[in-house]
Amino acid sequence: MSEDYAVSALAAGDTVRVIAARTTQLVREAQARHNCSPTVTAALGRLLTGAALMGHALNGNERITLQISGDGPVRGLVADVAAGGRVRGFPLRPTVERPLNAGGKFDVGGIVGRGSLHVTRTFDTGQPYTSAVPLATGEIGEDLAKFFASSEQIPTVVAVGVLANPAGVLAAGGVIAQLMPGADVSTIDLLERGARSMPHVSALVNDGLTPEGIVEKIADGLAPRIAGTHPIEFACRCSAERVAKAIVGLGHDALLEMASSSDDTEARCDFCGQRYYFSPDAIREILASAS
Ligand SMILES: [Zn+2]
Repeated sequence: MSEDYAVSALAAGDTVRVIAARTTQLVREAQARHNCSPTVTAALGRLLTGAALMGHALNGNERITLQISGDGPVRGLVADVAAGGRVRGFPLRPTVERPLNAGGKFDVGGIVGRGSLHVTRTFDTGQPYTSAVPLATGEIGEDLAKFFASSEQIPTVVAVGVLANPAGVLAAGGVIAQLMPGADVSTIDLLERGARSMPHVSALVNDGLTPEGIVEKIADGLAPRIAGTHPIEFACRCSAERVAKAIVGLGHDALLEMASSSDDTEARCDFCGQRYYFSPDAIREILASAS
């Protein structure tokens, strides 16, 4: 099974930046961890792929969090990426489902609904900066493109896709192409045409095309050259210690109740689904250290 990774490339005399990725394993793991329905898998997989593409240049403690809130059945989706291509994410309602749309595709826009996309960049100092845009269509790719255009003033073409059937995720991947300062404005038309004329990115991945091959497709005629290769994996930063800190946030009364219970308290990490168990004794220790 081929590993996930991303490549970054420059094209059109270094006036266009292209990032392409294969994210099949990432999406497959997220689907399994959260037991997502096929349409939620498509929605979350597109957002995870967007995060993976946006995170290729992160260093140190930097990270990017993408948060979608909508009035559709899934209610919301979160994906975040840290340096080293460590991506994680979750849907608020993993098991909701909708029929395929008129085009025979997963109705991602229908499951997300109307709402907003919040993008939080956390810098190495730990300082977060959030900006938000209303969703364009809820189909994720167009929403990310709208974010780049309106919030960051970077004309951007985004394609993110998941190919799945009831048996699981077959392929996933994505590509972002951005105009750098000094670019010829007609170049974005070429990129948009390139994106429109190429098959769905998940179908390309399913056919065995590599991220390098996806770059060649979207930047056809713009003489792209690969500048770097970047790993991608599903990885969470949770630990028993961090979860214990979150439990403290539930308040003194809740902790007292857990400490007096005869059962272990179960806490589940939202991002990765990992379960942590705390015995009544462990809860008493948390209580003692918190007071
Ligand atoms: Zn976790």
